Amino acid sequence: MRTFAYARADSVERAVDAQHAQQAGAFVAGGTLLLDLVKLDVMRPQQVTDISALPMKEVAFVDDDRLRIGALVTNTDLAHHPDVRQHYPLLSQAILNGASTQIRNMASTGGNLMQRTRCPYFRDVAAACNKREPGSGCDAMQGINRMHAVLGGSEHCIAVHPSDMCVALAAIGATVTLQGPDGTRDVDFGNFHRLPGETPHQEQDITDDELIVALTLAPPLAPQGAAYVKLRDRASYEFALAAAGAMISLDGDMIGEARLALGGVATKPWRCAEAEEILRGQPAETATFERAAEAALADAQPLEHNAFKVPLARQAIVRALRDATRDAKEGHA
Ligand SMILES: Cc1cc2nc3c(=O)[nH]c(=O)nc-3n(C[C@H](O)[C@H](O)[C@H](O)COP(=O)(O)OP(=O)(O)OC[C@H]3O[C@@H](n4cnc5c(N)ncnc54)[C@H](O)[C@@H]3O)c2cc1C
Repeated sequence: MRTFAYARADSVERAVDAQHAQQAGAFVAGGTLLLDLVKLDVMRPQQVTDISALPMKEVAFVDDDRLRIGALVTNTDLAHHPDVRQHYPLLSQAILNGASTQIRNMASTGGNLMQRTRCPYFRDVAAACNKREPGSGCDAMQGINRMHAVLGGSEHCIAVHPSDMCVALAAIGATVTLQGPDGTRDVDFGNFHRLPGETPHQEQDITDDELIVALTLAPPLAPQGAAYVKLRDRASYEFALAAAGAMISLDGDMIGEARLALGGVATKPWRCAEAEEILRGQPAETATFERAAEAALADAQPLEHNAFKVPLARQAIVRALRDATRDAKEGHA
């Protein structure tokens, strides 16, 4: 493992300034991802700025109906926060489906947004990876690509975005607030993660010297039912092969509003806008859910080893919509 300098920031401004002054710096929050990748030699910061003591741990409603979440709120605290459980149950469910209790206790909201792919070729410095080493190629294309993306890939990268929390955020809608040397700016969550295209190393709309300070959720869907379905090789402590997050409001037996996003199958948290269109105003029944699932995967491009993900994702969608409908009928919110 390479050595790096370490400093603890005592204000947001000083954290940003410290990062701005560095050529190869990195923030560290919970450290659950950064330290892994430093040990693997995938990330090579020379200076690490510890942001864990900064005042970014608040969860509170702003403008009456939008929940603002500080970037340092831990995954555990967020999942169990009463306002999240009551008004954004999909977010709570998605987080609790990720990682393990110990990791969630350390992992931060900002760090989850910034987490890197689990593609084994990205994590192996002996392999070619355009995300890790731009222009070096992609060994996953002809390699073992069972875990890789069927949506949003390019000829340069097919790595899956691994987050569960971000699937819920894609469905809910949110704004990411960044602070840089010149002040703050807001980025729509849907545009925060980038498609790989020709530049898979540019993963998010954030510069090296910008800090995520908070996330503000869109107003909750009400009344709503929600369900997060995660299908994986083992029942816990595993990343998704396919995951679906669904929120539904009902008008009698008809769907009022619907939100749907996928994980485990795409290169970024994947909002299924066309499927949502199909769902709105239709009977809340299996035939409707299957049509939506078909539309959500219509552009899928399976690889040699991962064609199974297409029917798997469809099944995850149908199950999530069915469970969300049941939840709505039981009058969750
Ligand atoms: C074994 C294991 C299993 C896991 N399983 C899952 C899973 O099933 N589902 C899932 O969703 N996740 C999973 N995770 C990922 C976990 O959720 C992330 O590691 C965690 O959210 C990262 O948060 P952190 O605070 O520890 O980030 P850190 O490791 O501190 O930082 C991660 C990256 O984010 C940057 N960063 C951190 N905070 C900020 C900020 N405020 N502004 C700008 N940049 C920032 C850092 O510079 C670094 O590049 C797993 C992780 C591990 C190690």
